[in-house]
Amino acid sequence: MSNNFGIYIHIPFCKRKCSYCDFISFCNKDNLIESYIDALKKEIEEFDFTKNIVTTIYIGGGTPSYINENYIKEILDLLKEKLVNNKVSWQDLEITIEVNPGTVNKQKLETYKESGVNRLSIGLQSTNNRLLKQIGRIHTYEEFLDTYNLAKGARI
Ligand code: SF4
Repeated sequence: MSNNFGIYIHIPFCKRKCSYCDFISFCNKDNLIESYIDALKKEIEEFDFTKNIVTTIYIGGGTPSYINENYIKEILDLLKEKLVNNKVSWQDLEITIEVNPGTVNKQKLETYKESGVNRLSIGLQSTNNRLLKQIGRIHTYEEFLDTYNLAKGARI
């Protein structure tokens, strides 16, 4: 039986709550971000990763791209240390982060890439701006295209 293992990191913060959302995510709780990241790092420190072969890391939410990019770097740097003896090398892991248009910029993308991210999931529920507004999304279709082009430029 395979003991391949995927790590999921949840970032439960968003700029605004979408009307259809039933994920664990909160807006107006930015005062909790730092302590949440500290708790997450403590859990990573204490977890024994040696029993499995880690093949993927997925950072989802919430909106991971809403928080400061240095928090993402801190989490990935720590995971890199912890996975030093993993059978799949750090460079060969699939490392994904979810980003939402309206919360990401070139600096963030560059930091993600430097930290090991090699896959992006960009949230787009519709190309219809009226519908996007109705469901409470913080961005337009044009802003999605800007994010998509930024991501292409960053070559993640
Ligand atoms: S961005 Fe995603 S997680 Fe955040 S409120 Fe909207 S649907 Fe929920």
